Amino acid sequence: MSRNGGLLIDTPGMRALSVVSAGDGVEQAFQEIEALARLCKYRSCSHAGEQGCALAVALSEGRLERGRFDSWLRLTGELASSELEAARQDVAERKRRKAIKVAHRRAARK
Ligand SMILES: [Zn+2]
Repeated sequence: MSRNGGLLIDTPGMRALSVVSAGDGVEQAFQEIEALARLCKYRSCSHAGEQGCALAVALSEGRLERGRFDSWLRLTGELASSELEAARQDVAERKRRKAIKVAHRRAARK
């Protein structure tokens, strides 16, 4: 075994992958809203009544149901925070694994 080679395999991608597939589900369930959201003037649009928000226009013209818009907004918000949480957990997990690795190395040296 090389000096840097470890037996611990880090797989932070797995969690990210499950978050991504959950995101795809939301996109499919709210396809028409996702399509409208792409028409917003600003890519970082929070759809909270900004200028050039395509969703606000669709809402005011009755092309978009308020209830559906609200649940989509809630869902995407939850998804964003779960992504953040997953990223935080990944960092904590990596630190924990590194600590174990170091402890093992120290034990092997004795
Ligand atoms: Zn918008």
